[in-house]
Amino acid sequence: MAAPTPPLDQLGRPPGVLRLSLTARCNLACPYCCPDSHDPPELLTLPERVELVAAAAELGFSRLRLTGGEPLLNKGLEALVAALQPLRGVRERSCSPGLSEIALTTNGVLLSAERARALRRAGLDRITVSLDGTDGASVGRMAGLAGGVPAGEAVLEKVLAALDHARRAGFDPATGGLKLNAVIARGQNEDQLLPLAALARQRGIELRLIEFMDVGNRNGWQPDQVLPAAEMVRRIGIHWPLEPLGRQAHGTASRWRYRDGVAHLAVVASISAPFCGDCDRLRITADGVAYTCLFASSGVDLKPWLRPSSSAADSLSGALRGLWSQRHDRYSEERKLEQPSGNVTTPRSLAEMAYLGG
Ligand code: SAM
Ligand code: SF4
Repeated sequence: MAAPTPPLDQLGRPPGVLRLSLTARCNLACPYCCPDSHDPPELLTLPERVELVAAAAELGFSRLRLTGGEPLLNKGLEALVAALQPLRGVRERSCSPGLSEIALTTNGVLLSAERARALRRAGLDRITVSLDGTDGASVGRMAGLAGGVPAGEAVLEKVLAALDHARRAGFDPATGGLKLNAVIARGQNEDQLLPLAALARQRGIELRLIEFMDVGNRNGWQPDQVLPAAEMVRRIGIHWPLEPLGRQAHGTASRWRYRDGVAHLAVVASISAPFCGDCDRLRITADGVAYTCLFASSGVDLKPWLRPSSSAADSLSGALRGLWSQRHDRYSEERKLEQPSGNVTTPRSLAEMAYLGG
């Protein structure tokens, strides 16, 4: 019997990346993100998470990113990564070749040498570490730390150590196994652009600069706080000339190569140059609610298909297929079309970034 074909959404987009949040909580309090202080009451269990990823992988979600909140707060993270390994490779009656990649996004604070090694041993392929500055004052401000400069310095020291731990554990920046994310907000940390680029270049790590996005309702986002990606690239290019490499199909980042051959730079321009047209991402929260867009107001609770007592008629895989087939989200493009200047003030009830998993 021929394998079923992957579902296409209403705009003809196939499934690709599953972003699974493990907690809505965080050990930092970045003001552009505003994480929850408590987790939702009904967190998924490890076996439920594995079942969910297996069903999604069968439909064609071949790349998995574990995120949060802060995913390293989850003590079962390494066990989850290990339990997902059998999902790699071709599976019977499946639309996809199984999981091809398991990645993690983390603020790095809890990434000790031991945990980095354990994650590698468990089968994690890639780590992206987030850091928004290179001095105590910037890091303290961007991470929402109450303790000012000393607290920022302490976090910075841990995150820099985390980069070393990850590299030593085998996450190789030269092959994309280790990357650095930075949110840049105009008037807040734009002075950190060059220092962050220098830090990443010194370490041979790809730096991914992210425009401050209007996710959620708590972060007080205003259009004038967005530093457009093109301007970030211009400022860095003055110091270290850059060559464009373009955006990979379905990717979020447009990539650049430093002309001197030292590492790469990437920008995520979801406000100034939205990429909804080929978006292949599905987000599932720590309590099993699926969102087909980062800017969606509501999601679909998948727990009824995961819990044995459920009276749900169809299978989990059928529910995911139905959800994806009905998807028509293209919020960032619509925002841009409605207001070319980016001046959107429509009040909408949105899920928060840390709950959705970034
Ligand atoms: N705690 C982890 C971390 O910070 O890497 C994982 C979760 S975090 C929500 C995932 C990514 O989303 C981080 O790189 C973070 O900087 C980014 N992010 C959070 N809020 C954002 C916003 N409003 N605009 C743009 N990026 C944001
Ligand atoms: Fe925490 Fe990441 Fe949100 Fe910062 S961006 S508060 S580190 S979840």
